[in-house]
Amino acid sequence: MEQVAEVLRQKRAQLEAQIAEMTRPQEVGTISFGKRVGEGTSQAVDRLAAVPAHDELTAMLAAIERAQQKLEDGTYGRCDVCGQEIGAGRLEARPWATRCLQHA
Ligand SMILES: [Zn+2]
Repeated sequence: MEQVAEVLRQKRAQLEAQIAEMTRPQEVGTISFGKRVGEGTSQAVDRLAAVPAHDELTAMLAAIERAQQKLEDGTYGRCDVCGQEIGAGRLEARPWATRCLQHA
C-alpha cells in the first residue's frame, strides 16, 4: 500500500498545482494599460473554457483526499457504498477510486 500512498500523494500535489494555477488571480485590470486590447478578451475566454476542467480537477482532488483517508483507516480498496472490493484493475487505472463500478 505504500506505493499507492505515494501515487496518491504525487497526483494530489499535481492537481493542487493545476488548480492553483487555474484560480490564480488574473492581473487583468491592474496592468491593462500597457496591454493590447485583444489580450484580456482571449484570457477571459480561456478562463471560461477552463471552468468544467476546474470542476473535474476539484472533484478528483476530493476523491484523492478520500482515498488517502481510506488508506489510513484501512478501508482502501473497498467501495464506500457497499463495502465490496473495488477490484485491482479499477484501482490500477484509478488509484483514487473509492467506489466500485456499480456505485461509481
Ligand atoms: Zn459498491
